[in-house]
Amino acid sequence: MREEMRTFGYLCPKCGKTVMKARSVFALEASGAEVECDCGGSALTAVFDGERYQLTVPCGLCGGTHTAVCSREQVLEGAVALACAETKQFCCFIGPEGIVEKNLRELEILAEKEKRQEINLPAKYMARLNAYRKRYRAALVVCAFLIVCVAAMFVITATSDNATILNYESKLIDRYEHWEEELKEREAKVREREEAAGISVQNSHGPESTQE
Ligand SMILES: [Zn+2]
Ligand SMILES: [Zn+2]
Repeated sequence: MREEMRTFGYLCPKCGKTVMKARSVFALEASGAEVECDCGGSALTAVFDGERYQLTVPCGLCGGTHTAVCSREQVLEGAVALACAETKQFCCFIGPEGIVEKNLRELEILAEKEKRQEINLPAKYMARLNAYRKRYRAALVVCAFLIVCVAAMFVITATSDNATILNYESKLIDRYEHWEEELKEREAKVREREEAAGISVQNSHGPESTQE
């Protein structure tokens, strides 16, 4: 003969794990039940006074402990869910194993979600983070402006004729070469004129010489 069992399930506020254990109806009627988490940090108790069950439930949602009074029928027949007074969510389930297991899994997911939402940085860190964000944005604008300036300088350097620190040597050589060419040209012109003058002198001498 198979003994009739009731399953108790709750979320341990100490370790965050689900606790699920079965107790026989016989044992419950005789001495109630204590369902302890494997971590030893929490325990659910059900005390039977002959008429009703006095339940003490560690709450994995708010971290506190809740008490409830349930009728004998509620605990021994069907399924019952106890709500957390703080979060208004179910934090404890008593009933057939399948139903308790399913609800516990949902409770675990809910608790995970709430924990994730709680991981918000304190306000003063958020304020500092926002200040850094603003400074970062301002620095980004300044950097972009400076990059444009540098690019513009390169363009000016590449296109202008003025000597700069980057091209002064070739510019100077170019300039001296240019001067040298100019000098040579002038020299050539002067020579031309001298020769022309010489020729004219010779020409003027010519007639003189012919006059002689
Ligand atoms: Zn635990
Ligand atoms: Zn609670």
